[in-house]
Amino acid sequence: MLSGKTALVTGSTSGIGLGIARSLAAQGANIVFNGFGDAQQIEQLRAGVAQEFGVQAAYHNADMSKPAEIEAMIKFAEEKFGGVDVLVNNAGIQYVANVEDFPVERWDAIIAINLSSTFHTTRCALPGMKKKNWGRIINVASVHGLVGSAGKSAYVAAKHGVVGLTKVTALENAHTGITCNAICPGWVLTPLVQKQVDDRAARDGISNEQAKKALLSEKQPSGEFVTPEELGALAVFFCSPAGDQVRGVAWNMDGGWVAQ
Ligand code: NAD
Repeated sequence: MLSGKTALVTGSTSGIGLGIARSLAAQGANIVFNGFGDAQQIEQLRAGVAQEFGVQAAYHNADMSKPAEIEAMIKFAEEKFGGVDVLVNNAGIQYVANVEDFPVERWDAIIAINLSSTFHTTRCALPGMKKKNWGRIINVASVHGLVGSAGKSAYVAAKHGVVGLTKVTALENAHTGITCNAICPGWVLTPLVQKQVDDRAARDGISNEQAKKALLSEKQPSGEFVTPEELGALAVFFCSPAGDQVRGVAWNMDGGWVAQ
């Protein structure tokens, strides 16, 4: 379905971004990977996806908190593959503390990486999409783009911002073949969440398994984690012809979290 097209997925060296990149590659898209990690492992991952799915894959190490590096990454994708057809804004970080204790530099970093990077990638990629009159912008927000949780001020503010930006981007391009939508996952067991599981196990003196159950039972009625593969399938749907008129939605996949 996506052969001949190129998908750039920010923060795709791990977790949800990697799951979405793999799902898009399985549909034939060339992939531009981005994110941090060990250079050798990233190269293995890039070459592995290219071989497994018979697509071309490249990697760019832009830091999503640096607008100039984001501009360079989009230019790189355009020079290498002739454009970005599917842009997945996924890179994100978390920090948990109450507002009065929240380190100012952590606030700034979360707003830059989780929110402003989506503005920068979008503004840089849109002119190329407009030339082809086709594009898919998929913003990985969170249930925290729809509801709040104590201790997550910067994250919740950034993710609500992403949902707002999604609506505006969708509206500004509503008369074109470019759609913009957000995905709002509940708990997904990635390194970002494993850290919260570890913190909870240490704080409450419980096992890893007990901490996972406690985390889920608090918020996610299904009692099951969402998987990167399930989120990848939703991204593929947004890219399909059936998704042509899905514009500006914030689609939660959350085991019932937001239904409560
Ligand atoms: P993760 O830690 O596994 O992956 C995050 C990715 O972002 C990694 O590839 C990392 O290298 C990259 N990254 C971090 N800072 C970066 C920077 N400055 N520049 C470039 N890349 C950077 O986390 P994840 O759980 O897969 O999270 C992915 C996205 O999904 C995030 O936006 C997160 O907020 C969102 N999300 C996660 C969950 C969950 O339960 N895991 C739930 C809802 C939303």
